[in-house]
Amino acid sequence: MTRKVISLAEIRDGSLRNVSLEAIAAAKTIAQGGEVVAVLVGENVQSHANELIAHGADRVVVVEHAQLKVYTPDGYSQALMAVVEAEKPEGIVFGHTALGKDLSPKLATKLNAGLVSDVVAIEEKDGELLFTRPIYSGKAFEKKVVKDGLIFITVRPNNIPALSRDDARTGEVISLSVEIKDLRTIVKEIVRKTAEGVDLSEAKVIVAGGRGVKSEDGFKPLQELADVLGGAVGASRGACDAGYCDYSLQIGQTGKVVTPDLYIACGISGAIQHLAGMSNSKVIVAINKDPEANIFKVADYGIVGDLFEVVPLLTEEFKKL
Ligand code: FAD
Repeated sequence: MTRKVISLAEIRDGSLRNVSLEAIAAAKTIAQGGEVVAVLVGENVQSHANELIAHGADRVVVVEHAQLKVYTPDGYSQALMAVVEAEKPEGIVFGHTALGKDLSPKLATKLNAGLVSDVVAIEEKDGELLFTRPIYSGKAFEKKVVKDGLIFITVRPNNIPALSRDDARTGEVISLSVEIKDLRTIVKEIVRKTAEGVDLSEAKVIVAGGRGVKSEDGFKPLQELADVLGGAVGASRGACDAGYCDYSLQIGQTGKVVTPDLYIACGISGAIQHLAGMSNSKVIVAINKDPEANIFKVADYGIVGDLFEVVPLLTEEFKKL
């Protein structure tokens, strides 16, 4: 059964987020040969349309408005509702990002649709689409089927591979004008707590520090290793609580959930709440002084040693590659 599926593209610091390209790939699987329409919402965002087409969108709908310059739940839901009304899709795909997590339930309620959130894989079996999502903080996976109505999902970053870029792909770009009114919240100022750089939730490599890092300065060797690997720095709550780094770096049950290709845990004991945020990483390396540390139970490679000796050595070795 072919379907028309829309996917929301997100822009961050002037660039499309990777998960938006992964959302197109997910939308293509749901569309089963039908049309995939990427949606760009914001102010002066049309320039990103070609990149969406190059990654597989058949068409791009651009909704531009001064009131959509920054995300607000009311503004974006009005924009998306207008797109849904115009396009009448059978499927909607968002990234499982802060924005996606905020907006998707609001929209699903308005559309009286079920929502399968945090999808990490989609497969077709006996003519049905199965959506896999982690449950119980990643300790198990469930497979869900949408029995009828709109298929509405959010996809976890770094799990469904984006289609590789092909600039020979073509597609139509259309503008949709919307009336944005009655915004109940207005963003006055955005205060950035973390340094610009690789986005933690989309990073392919994460070097994370725990209480074993011992101080704010102790994060410097971790940042150097992350820079050499083109990755981002993350942290345990232990490190955040101790004031060594900002809470925006926290990974775990009450922090960010990440699925990088490589996760290097430095001086992190491996409490269950931390594992909830990173145990689905593709390759886990743990560096800890304590050979009994719980983190070694989930690690693919373990190094028993002092992180202040091991991390600089790794940095030096990776620099040679
Ligand atoms: P510790 O447990 O103190 O571990 C430090 C480790 O560093 C030890 O294993 C030690 O051997 C090692 N070490 C010390 N020095 C060195 C060195 N020089 N070289 C190498 N290794 C060294 N935690 C999270 O991380 N994320 C969450 O989202 C989260 N949510 C929570 C929610 C709730 C409701 C609760 C109750 C707790 C939550 N926690 C969370 C906290 C969690 O239970 C742990 O307390 C926390 O993860 C411990 O952080 P840590 O591993 O950095 O510190």
